[in-house]
Amino acid sequence: MQKERGILIVLSGPSGVGKGTVRKELFSTPDTNYEYSISMTTRQPRVGEVDGVDYFFQTHENFESLIQQGKLLEYASYVGNYYGTPLDYVNETLDSGRDVFLEIEVQGAAQVREKAPNALFIFLAPPSLSALEERLVGRGTETDDVIASRIQAAKQELEMMNLYDYVVENDEVTKACDRINAIVMAEHCRRERV
Ligand code: 5GP
Repeated sequence: MQKERGILIVLSGPSGVGKGTVRKELFSTPDTNYEYSISMTTRQPRVGEVDGVDYFFQTHENFESLIQQGKLLEYASYVGNYYGTPLDYVNETLDSGRDVFLEIEVQGAAQVREKAPNALFIFLAPPSLSALEERLVGRGTETDDVIASRIQAAKQELEMMNLYDYVVENDEVTKACDRINAIVMAEHCRRERV
């Protein structure tokens, strides 16, 4: 069988749902074919975040220049900061036959849907809105104002989940990862039919 192009996997879900934890767990599983696309952002690094590992931290000016030059597959403004996906990295990795994981919010996912309709769209959902609020407050990484804005954004994001191919509930990280791995494996089988 001819080597397939990798699958572009879009993982969205409201802030605080545990996307980062799920993604790290997915990437710690041996023998997966995934690469993570590190996003660009104008947000300030949180304590412990490393440039080039968690994000490529950019000035506002740099980010706008990347937009102008068409270097981003998608980008969005989220709670006062820009976030975007580097286009060249995604294309080169997919061409090499590896799957690429994007962990992005819903506005960006809608742009990917337009530009790459072949992508696989997975929404990570919280068991409930109150569980999400508890997590956002509990992790203590944001100010009260930012938490309130993120909860507001989360309500809007949850309304978008039916536009995704799959909704995976993050009731337990390992279970959520098992479901995501199964979805990606099934998608490979579907695409590799001759
Ligand atoms: P955080 O500030 O918590 O790291 O991220 C805020 C939101 O931006 C999260 O929902 C995260 O998934 C999303 N995000 C991260 N990178 C990107 C990106 O490249 N594009 C878009 N559209 N959203 C992103």
